[in-house]
This record gives sequence, C-alpha cells and structure tokens, in this order.
Amino acid sequence: MGLTGIEILKMLPKKNCGECGVPTCLAFAMKVAAGQEDIGACPYVSDEVKEKVGEASAPPIRTIVLGSGDNKFQVGGETCLYRHEKRFEHPTGLAFLITTGMDDSEVSDRLARFNGLRYDRVGVELKADLVAVKDESGDEGAFRSLVEKVRQDCPDAAIILISDNAGVLKAGAEACGEHKPLLYAATPDNVDDMVSLAKQVECPLAVKGGTIGETAELSEKIQGEGLKDLVLDTGARTVKAVFEDQVVCRRAAVKHKYKPLGFPTITFPCEMTDDSLTEAMITSVLIAKYAGICVLSDIQGDVLFPLLLERLNIFTDPQRPMVVQEDIYPINGPDENSPVLITCNFSLTYFIVSGEIEGSKVPSWLLIKDTEGLSVLTAWAAGKFSADLIAQFVKKCGIEEKVKHRSLIIPGYLASIKGELEEELPDWKIQIGPREASHLPSYLKSWQPEG
Ligand code: SF4
Repeated sequence: MGLTGIEILKMLPKKNCGECGVPTCLAFAMKVAAGQEDIGACPYVSDEVKEKVGEASAPPIRTIVLGSGDNKFQVGGETCLYRHEKRFEHPTGLAFLITTGMDDSEVSDRLARFNGLRYDRVGVELKADLVAVKDESGDEGAFRSLVEKVRQDCPDAAIILISDNAGVLKAGAEACGEHKPLLYAATPDNVDDMVSLAKQVECPLAVKGGTIGETAELSEKIQGEGLKDLVLDTGARTVKAVFEDQVVCRRAAVKHKYKPLGFPTITFPCEMTDDSLTEAMITSVLIAKYAGICVLSDIQGDVLFPLLLERLNIFTDPQRPMVVQEDIYPINGPDENSPVLITCNFSLTYFIVSGEIEGSKVPSWLLIKDTEGLSVLTAWAAGKFSADLIAQFVKKCGIEEKVKHRSLIIPGYLASIKGELEEELPDWKIQIGPREASHLPSYLKSWQPEG
C-alpha cells in the first residue's frame, strides 16, 4: 500500500529549502506520493526513510533495466490495468532471434536489419529493442563469439541470453561486459545454478515455470534467495493461454499486490507458429495485453513497422497530447515561390495536413506553431493560436528568408482572424485555406500568391 503525501511529509526534514526542485516539503511529499518525484531528490532524508518510502511507493510491477549507459532498455514499472487510468510506463520490448545454429551470413543479415529498420515518427525513433541470442549446441565458445558479434554490430541492442546451461550463459554474460543482458531462464530443473549465476554476474534473471502457478512458486523461491530483478515466462505457448496469463499476472500484481507475479513478462510468439503474419498478429495482441517483451523469430520491415506503430499508440501518455516540434517543414522540395501554410503542432493535424500536401505533389512550406498539442480550433479558443502569437512565430521562424512572396495560408477554420493577423503582419497577405485537409491538394494546385 502506497504512503499518502501527509505520511511522507512527516518523514521529511521540513526545511522548505527547495533543493529538491520543489518549493516546499509539502509539495515535494505530494509529488513523491503521486509517483512524480523520487524520494532521493531530497538530499536530507536518511537511508532508512529512502528505503521505507521507496518500498512503499515502488510500482507493483518491478522495473527491470538491461543494457548500459545511453543504451539502457527498461521494462515493467507498470502501475495500472488500463491506460486511461494513468499511463503505461515502458513499451513492450520487441526482440528477434539469432542462434548458434545459424550460418554467419544469416546472423549478419539479421543484425544489419536490426540497424537498418528504424523509422522516424513524430520526432520519435521507432525500432526493435533486443536481440535474443539462443544457444543450440551447448558450446560456450560459439555462444561467446555470437554474443560478441551482436555487441560489436548492434551496440544499442539490449540482449537476451537463452540457454538451459548456466556455463553457456556465463560465457555470454561475460561477453556482454557492463551491458547487462537478461539471463533466460531459471526452471525448476536448473534454478540453483541460475540463481547463483545471476548473483555472480549481477544480471536480471528470467523465471520459467510450466504453468503460471509453478512460475509464481519459482519466483517466490528465487526472491527468497535475494534476487530482486526477475522477468516471468509462464510457459504458455498458445495465444489463448499466453493472453490469459498476461492478464492474470498484471491483475494479480496491480490489484492484489501479489509479489511473486510483480515482474514484467517475456513471451515467445516465435514458438507459437511458423507463419510470420500469424506471429505478428499474436505479438500485436500481446503488446496490447500486457507483455513486457515479445521474442519474434525474425526481423522484417513489413511485420515490424505496424507493430511499432501499434506500440507507439498504446504506450503514449493519454494525459499529454502528442506533438511535433515547432519548425518550418519543407514538403516536396519547395523554393522561394512555393506556398506557405501554417497549422498547429498537434501531431494528428500535422500528419493529416503534411500527408495531403505531400500527396498533392505541390512543393510547399508548412509552418508548425507550438500550440501545446492542441488542435486548431481548441488552440485558438485557448489563446494559443491567436493572431499575435502566429505573427510572432512567422517573424522569428525564418520563413521570410526562404520565400520571395508574402502570402500566408491559414486554416479555413481560422478565417475570423484574417483581419487581425494582417494588422499584426502588415507585410503579409493572409489567405484562407480550406477547412478540410482533404481539400488541400486541389487548393494548392490552383494557388497563386497575393503578397
Ligand atoms: S530538499 Fe528536502 S527539505 Fe528541502 S524542500 Fe525539498 S523536501 Fe524539503
């Protein structure tokens, strides 16, 4: 049970010095209780208080960190069942397999695709996160070499090491160095060896039972031996069973604070089908409910891209609108005679408007004004897309150096601010664009400058 702000306040030194970045101890305590600040941000609290508050305010699903430095991958840390209750914290990690049984060219091709299949969307880089390196021969040297190749070719990939043999996993973990891999997996048959290896190399350990009950028992036993960083595999390998297990794990941890299942999960769509599209469909279900990591058999753009987009949609914070950066966006190679349009920075608006301009094939400049993610009319009503703010942006953004004419196309819904905007921008003529983005192509094809 989490502590309230008042309970946390009682444990603070009440200096109200602001060194934590929050003006008062009360405000800081409230933020800690809401999970928005870490108790460690106050330099005056004792280790005992840190431990007490940290434990009480820890998320019901532990956050597990793999990798190192700037190339950290985090999974877990979830606090709710439904995104609208708060938000989902860490997107499902997408992994793909390479094995010691593959020939060198196949391994190199897959690693090259890991590096190449990256997409820029709303200013965010979308990509796969992990490489799952699987031992198929029990040969420590071969496994070590394969892991070294992954580290060398894909330095930003988080790594999952898969073997039943603790000696083989140890060789792989050593090849990872400081770049912490996930060790997969402790089972009832090898649990003692795996626990001792995880302690020795200080890496998170996956726990695999034959059923969800056996997984919980194993998790409890391993926690009893002092390991805290675990990832769960309930052993399910059908869509129905794995889906049910994901829901049961999340519900048990979040609603019932059931600690044995309070860890992120790892799932294996690659072991559930031989068909890549079916595998993608299973993965899409597991991204939605509630897999921490999905291991795919291969990495291919036609499967990866839609999964990344689905993941982006599910793991955005519903309390914060998605935005694009305030800037001048050239579309279709514009020049000094090309039309200039302006709209808000709500990402959906940007993608619809820029898509229609792109489709028109008319070279254009698109000005994106920061409206804090509000759409055109909402931003205007909130005073964030008013004539004076638009004018300030047009003057400072540098568009006047890029075009010879002085015609600015505003969204049709803002027709009422035309006069005001012309007063604020006396050198410019304001043109009213269409209300609907879908009418932009025909509008742009017949566009003529006025100013
Ligand atoms: S740094 Fe500590 S003592 Fe100072 S205001 Fe913040 S919580 Fe209070």
